[in-house]
This record gives sequence, C-alpha cells and structure tokens, in this order.
Amino acid sequence: MSLAVVLALLLLSLIAGALVILAALRLRGPGPCAAGASEAACATCAACADDLDLLAGADEDEPVAKLALRTIEDAYARGAASVHVAPHEQATDGGPPGRVTRITYRVDGRLEGRMSLPAEALRVLVARLRAMAGLQGRPRALQRGRIDLRAHHPEAIDLVLDLATWRGHDGDHAVLHLLARGTLALGLDALDLHEDALARVRAAATAPRGGVLLLAGEVESGRTTTLHALAHEVERDRRVAFVAPDPYVPWVEGVDPASVQSLDADVLVVGELRDAAAARLAFAAAQEGRLVLATIFARDVGTAIARLVDDLQVSRHVLPACLRAVVAQRLCRRVCRCRADGAPPTACERCEGAGYKGRLGLHEVATVEGPLLAALRAGETAPAALQAAALAGGMTPLERDGARKAERGVTDLEAVRVALA
Ligand SMILES: [Zn+2]
Repeated sequence: MSLAVVLALLLLSLIAGALVILAALRLRGPGPCAAGASEAACATCAACADDLDLLAGADEDEPVAKLALRTIEDAYARGAASVHVAPHEQATDGGPPGRVTRITYRVDGRLEGRMSLPAEALRVLVARLRAMAGLQGRPRALQRGRIDLRAHHPEAIDLVLDLATWRGHDGDHAVLHLLARGTLALGLDALDLHEDALARVRAAATAPRGGVLLLAGEVESGRTTTLHALAHEVERDRRVAFVAPDPYVPWVEGVDPASVQSLDADVLVVGELRDAAAARLAFAAAQEGRLVLATIFARDVGTAIARLVDDLQVSRHVLPACLRAVVAQRLCRRVCRCRADGAPPTACERCEGAGYKGRLGLHEVATVEGPLLAALRAGETAPAALQAAALAGGMTPLERDGARKAERGVTDLEAVRVALA
C-alpha cells in the first residue's frame, strides 16, 4: 500500500471517529459550553462534568480515545513536529462565521491546516489528551504533561509526546510536540554538523575540566534535538543526569539546587535556561568541573552570550572559566531525493511536488578560546562584539554553513535564505 493511500485511509478513519463521538455526545445532551455560549459555566455544568469523568476513564475502544490516537498517528505519518487543537472562527457559505475545532499540524516548520471538526469536539478531544497525560480537572492555567504511546500507522513506533494545554477566553487549546524515541537516540553524527563544527562540539563535550556547552536557537531551531544527541553521545563513557524532572520537557521550575549539587553525575542536562535560577544552577555545576548541557533562546552566538549576562544575571567574571562553547542553529528545508535524481518533483510522491522533504540544521560553533576568550576576559558583553570575536577565532557563521551545504546539494540557497531571514 502506498503512503498516499495509507494517509487517505487514516484521514477517513479520523473523520469517521470524530462523527461517532460527536453523535454520542449529542445523545447525552450538550452542556452550555457545547454551543460556545459560556465557557465559564462549562467547567461546572453537569453534562461537562460527566463527560470529563467519562473521558478520564475512557478505555481504548471509546470513540474519543480512538480519535485522539488516530490524530497522533496521522500527525506522525505526515511527519508533523507538533499538533495544535484550537477553537477557530470559520467562514460559512453566505452566513456568519461559525465556530469549529481546528486541527493544525506543523510540518517542516510550516503550519498546515489538517481538518475542521464541529465545535463540540474541542472540549472532549482536549480532555482525552489531558487524560492520556495523566492531567486532572480542567484548569485555565497552562499545564504540561507527557504521553507515552505506541503508534501503529504506518508502522509500529514508540512515541513520546509533550502536551501543553490551557483554557483561553475562546475555549480549550492543546499543543502536542511529537518526539519519536528513535530520533532521540541519535548521536551527533546524525545531526548534519559540518566536519569542522562537529570537531569543535566534540572537543568541548570531552574537555576534562567540564563547563557549560550552550545550544542557542529560536523556536523550532532543533536545539532540543541537538541537546539530546549530545547527551546520548557523552552517555557512552560518563554518568549523565537530566536535571529537569523529565528529559523530554525543557527546564521545569522548582528544582532544588542542593539536590542537583548532590547528584552523582559528571554531566548535567539542564534543558532551557529560561530564568536566572536555572542559569545560576548551570554555572554553579560548571564551576565544580561538570559538563553542563543547556539551551538558550537566541539567534546567534554573540546574542546567546550577551543574554547570559543581561537577562539571566550570570556574572561576567565566571564566563571565561566556565563557558566552554556555544552552538547557534537554525533548521532549513532539505532538498528532496527526486531533485538529486534529476526527476521532476511534480511526479514525486515523497515530497508531493514541493521539491523539499524534511529539514537539516545549519550551525555556527564557537569554542571559548583565542579572541572570544580574550573578549570575555575583558568583560565584553555587546552581542556584535562577541560575535565578531567568535568569527575572528575561526567560527564559520550560519550563512557560510548554509552556503556550503547548498553546494553539497542537501539544501539550496533559497531555502538557506528563508531559514536565515
Ligand atoms: Zn520529491
């Protein structure tokens, strides 16, 4: 069976599942929230309370359980990185806009509307996802959880999903990030790092005196994938501890620094440095000689280092001794095999005529030595000056890394231009 047929069948079964569950809900009589009338009243209405109880205990044969599972399997089969379930106002023919439940996938960095379900589907689908992640009740506040499951379409695979849900003024929202276990176990060799970048990262990761190895990027830059690949790589000969309670969820607040200091580990994976407390913990561990792997929201090496001091209150005096290397990265669309074969993409089932399939990382890697070390010792904190010092030390910038990957044919200059815009 071809992939296109599998996907078409999946979509059909998805829609059929959605209709069955909605019919069941209508029979039971909708709560006031079902018409979108009053979200505030909804959490307490009897019909909703019944639904939530039902969903929390739903077994795998319940229509809503099937709908949730098929959505995840369908998203995985389409190569989606995330699934967004949200209320949406949709224009109808001639009439006023109507409320629907919109399911959107992020595929290769772009949002792709997958389907619209009736408004009533929103609350039950989000409640089912929450139940799968073991989350209780229906609070307004953002909550996160993790779902582990084995998906079966098109082939059996163990998936780990990071679920975030919240209740806005317009209703429930859910975002699922899909992580296949197989891709988490990749080492650095699978990351498209150019040879010289790879050598720099390996040198920093194996330096005997430890230090912070920082992975910088913006949303959907692939920095978390790089973090896990690095952790997997160093795990071969050292004891690694994931400080965040869950390695698949980035930095989680409320970790006791004392408990971290007593951890029997050579390497700490602390996830994202979102606040001063996380940064303080990371640099304290580095001062003890441990290797610390962390991510930071920043678009290039210079900005990442400047953010440590300006936003995260790391003392500039500890940087020369404790910061080992900074990797900044982006994801860029990958050229589909059909173009390398010289076949016209229009006939290509793999990329559906787009000419691109999947993404690859663009990286710049600065190790703290030479001009960059001198700049840090001099107390430099301006992003542009730090970036210039990294370049003076031989760092290949993102633009050049993109150009050399385009020369190899794995991407093209247009895709690089879009990725760096
Ligand atoms: Zn193709």
